[in-house]
Amino acid sequence: MAFFEDLGKKLTKVGEAAAEKTKEVAEFTKVNAKILDVQNKLDKAYIEVGKKYLELHPANDEEDMKAVVDAVYGLEDQLKELQKQLQDLKGTVKCDGCGAECDADATFCSKCGAELKKEEIIVDGEAVDVEEAEVEVAPEDIEETVE
Ligand SMILES: [Zn+2]
Repeated sequence: MAFFEDLGKKLTKVGEAAAEKTKEVAEFTKVNAKILDVQNKLDKAYIEVGKKYLELHPANDEEDMKAVVDAVYGLEDQLKELQKQLQDLKGTVKCDGCGAECDADATFCSKCGAELKKEEIIVDGEAVDVEEAEVEVAPEDIEETVE
């Protein structure tokens, strides 16, 4: 009988240990999730610090910060260049209302909200008349319209 009693106690202990393990795992997962959350918030806070720093030191005159700020400016330039490339690929339409260049696929001006007419799409800085887009244009004619 003692054997079975011992076995029962042992099994209870195994069960308790398993429950303890499950609790530990749950706790581990919970704390891990909290760590990820705080790390995420910390990353955003770092970004805010960086933005604030750039606002306060646009001239990039702090020797210790020069390299990192240069990296930011370099990436900003790259981004602008890529956005411009994308814009050129999409083409733009000039708003009759305010003269803003808007996405060729936009219906309304992003600046003034006027409805955009689609007769003329500007691709690579050159105006392309949509109705006459099929017509072959001699290269010298194009050069004349470009400033
Ligand atoms: Zn407009």
